[in-house]
Amino acid sequence: MKQHDDNLYQELALLLLKEEDLRRKTEQLLTQAKKVIDPRQEFNKWLQSSEGKRWKEKQFEYQSGKCAYCQEELRFSDAVVHHVIPLKQLGNQANKPENFKLLHQSCNLKISTKIVFLHNKLKELEIEEQKINLKTSQIIKQADLALSK
Ligand SMILES: [Zn+2]
Repeated sequence: MKQHDDNLYQELALLLLKEEDLRRKTEQLLTQAKKVIDPRQEFNKWLQSSEGKRWKEKQFEYQSGKCAYCQEELRFSDAVVHHVIPLKQLGNQANKPENFKLLHQSCNLKISTKIVFLHNKLKELEIEEQKINLKTSQIIKQADLALSK
């Protein structure tokens, strides 16, 4: 009987060792898998591809060379790509050009992972600018009229 127990304990010890080994291997595999689908890496890869570069040029034109956050002038070489909905929240799903805007690095840091609806802000500012332009042209017309009298 004593011999029998000893065998069982030995078997158990062996199983526990195997289990520990399996757990370590699984962890290693998981770490590798995470690296393969790391959304930040995927994004950097895309950004350096010709597709990503073309997108950045087009987007820069679309934003009229201005930062989508502060609306100040932006140099192409300084423009960083901002995820409107952060990678943290959506993972690789956030890696879609519709989710990207070009910003100053400092603006990007200011926003960090807060969600700011830049597109709406851009539209609002465009409308505001149109209103100001209209008012300016009205004032100029009035001034012209006043001067011609
Ligand atoms: Zn900015």
